[in-house]
Amino acid sequence: MLFAHDTTTALAWLAALVNTELEGEEQLNTPADLDDLLTTWSMSGRRLGTRAELAEVRAVRSRIATAWDATEPAELAAIANELFADHAGRPCLTRHDQQDWHLHLTDSEAPVASRIGSEAALALTDLIRADGLDRLQRCIADDCTAVFVDLTKNRSRRFCETGNCANRAHVAAYRRRRRAAHES
Ligand SMILES: [Zn+2]
Ligand SMILES: [Zn+2]
Repeated sequence: MLFAHDTTTALAWLAALVNTELEGEEQLNTPADLDDLLTTWSMSGRRLGTRAELAEVRAVRSRIATAWDATEPAELAAIANELFADHAGRPCLTRHDQQDWHLHLTDSEAPVASRIGSEAALALTDLIRADGLDRLQRCIADDCTAVFVDLTKNRSRRFCETGNCANRAHVAAYRRRRRAAHES
């Protein structure tokens, strides 16, 4: 196991959050969109369902997304420190939904954006401590910029899981080989 269960879950969640806005294509357009996403990812605690809350989440999402552009651990650390400074409150061990004991840096009444931001800071901390900068990857498919976290042992993952990109690339490569064989 690379990371504790909560870090693995948090990293997958952060990638999914970042993937809600790729190349200007916004998927979190309404508070209801946000509510669905938070439910899908078992985000505990209070939700207001307001446009202001949505705007705050979009803002923290933009900052989390910069982690995927970091080229050295110090940059990741700076992002994590900024998120800690702006969003962390009182640490508290908790368990909820299907998730066993893990650390929250805010109470359940804190704004959603702060709970997301502080969770991101914690997950990035684990990643930095494990020298895992290169686990933050972007899909290499031609028409896809989705981010993902490569948790394979040998860091071999190249495609995201959001758009079936690996399959499409394999089919395209197969067709190219067939065409080449046919033409030769
Ligand atoms: Zn939690
Ligand atoms: Zn992709």
